[in-house]
Amino acid sequence: MATFKEFRNNIKPNWCPGCGDFSIQAAIQRAAANVGLEPEGLAVISGIGCSGRISGYINAYGLHGIHGRALPIAQGVKLANRDLTVIASGGDGDGFAIGMGHTVHAIRRNVNITYIVMDNQIYGLTKGQTSPRSGEGFKTKSTPEGSIESALSPLEVALASGATFVAQSFSSDIKQLTSLIEQGIQHEGFSLINVFSPCVTFNKVNTYDWFKDNIINLETMPDYDPSNRVLAMNTLMETGSMITGLIYQNTEKRSYENLVYGFKEEPLAHQSLELTKSEFDNL
Ligand code: SF4
Repeated sequence: MATFKEFRNNIKPNWCPGCGDFSIQAAIQRAAANVGLEPEGLAVISGIGCSGRISGYINAYGLHGIHGRALPIAQGVKLANRDLTVIASGGDGDGFAIGMGHTVHAIRRNVNITYIVMDNQIYGLTKGQTSPRSGEGFKTKSTPEGSIESALSPLEVALASGATFVAQSFSSDIKQLTSLIEQGIQHEGFSLINVFSPCVTFNKVNTYDWFKDNIINLETMPDYDPSNRVLAMNTLMETGSMITGLIYQNTEKRSYENLVYGFKEEPLAHQSLELTKSEFDNL
């Protein structure tokens, strides 16, 4: 069985020292080992941005895609290689701006992949512009007077879109993050894990200390029930989406590939027509 070190390669990340993305890379490697994967059983597909480099920094199959398109590629990889574990990754600009249409439809399609968003609330690769996750009043080169737009709440959008697994973590909490990635990989269906990942170079507002002061760990809410979708939505709205942990999981809904013809001995397509597979093939 592979150890987490076997998911390392000899490429040195060129992220800035202190960037939150380092911990997310380590958490993916640890989670992959902890769930018993081998490097040849994992594919990491990324979009564009500082975080998009991650697919090159993990010893596994990898594809550094185009801006906002990690999810279409990742879904195609999974549907063509159903025995692979597929992780898609990218930043909040990649997934929640140019890629938001793909994100919503991937969520409702429920293909069995894990999507890890490295949410630094700014565009880092292009040297610091306001992103869809930046708060009102956020000053950057693109909003010198402060942003007048509201920050997107992607986890609320995910719940409203029929998500079956929604989680959030902080790059500094590598124990929680590793556990959530393990749960996401093991979940049957699409798992969304948003990770607060500070950009130490360009975001001087949402710093490590700011997140520590504002995050509410769901472990402090002993009565929280992650199978309750209404509770999940209400808790996100009441806390400004600053909760971390497993926010919602639906274990009843089957994944896309388990509902599609050819992925099970008796897929629903046959059952609904009351045909055997060979009868269906000969239609
Ligand atoms: Fe990380 Fe920001 Fe540096 Fe990009 S610019 S590597 S997000 S610290």
